[in-house]
Amino acid sequence: MLHRLTLPCTAFEQNCSLLWCSDTNEAALIDPGGDIPMLMAAVQQRALTLKAIWLTHAHIDHAGATGTIARTEGVPIIGPGQGDDYWIQALPQQSQMFGFPQAEHFTPTQWLNQGDTVQLGAHTLQVLHCPGHTPGHVVFYSPDLKHAFVGDVLFAGSIGRTDFPGGNHADLIHAIKHRLFALGDDVTFTPGHGPESTLGEERLYNPYLR
Ligand SMILES: [Zn+2]
Repeated sequence: MLHRLTLPCTAFEQNCSLLWCSDTNEAALIDPGGDIPMLMAAVQQRALTLKAIWLTHAHIDHAGATGTIARTEGVPIIGPGQGDDYWIQALPQQSQMFGFPQAEHFTPTQWLNQGDTVQLGAHTLQVLHCPGHTPGHVVFYSPDLKHAFVGDVLFAGSIGRTDFPGGNHADLIHAIKHRLFALGDDVTFTPGHGPESTLGEERLYNPYLR
């Protein structure tokens, strides 16, 4: 069985997700932005073995703890897309600008592309490239859970900002409508911030997508 737990972290209340396979007790952290002791306590309390960090994109509130956890736990960093490399290089400036602890530099073990898959224990998740908020933004979709981890692409009642360098509003709308919504109305999702929703709810009622 695949399980998930949302762990809001950092002053931005970013929804880090802990994902684990109860057959193997292997776990992944999606978007560890900060609050490392809290995140690692969630792993240890369940006697899980952290196997990887998966990143949707490289903004500081999503990626700030990545370098330190990868080094101390000896785990690979999977994602985001290579288009986010400039955000990774800018993590020191992002730390300063937003008052975060200095983020440890890292280089992803593997960049992700549209159509890739990631593995956790007996479970496979699909990778969707959804640019617009950042150029290399990816979404992780679990067919087992019928659940997507969408980072800052889509929120309950809102969509991701596109006014940062490299943002593109048309790309974001296209990705939401043609990649995310293709997963189906009954798919639930964890956004980067705020409450969960379903793709159908957002397709029908999100004011930014009418
Ligand atoms: Zn972001």
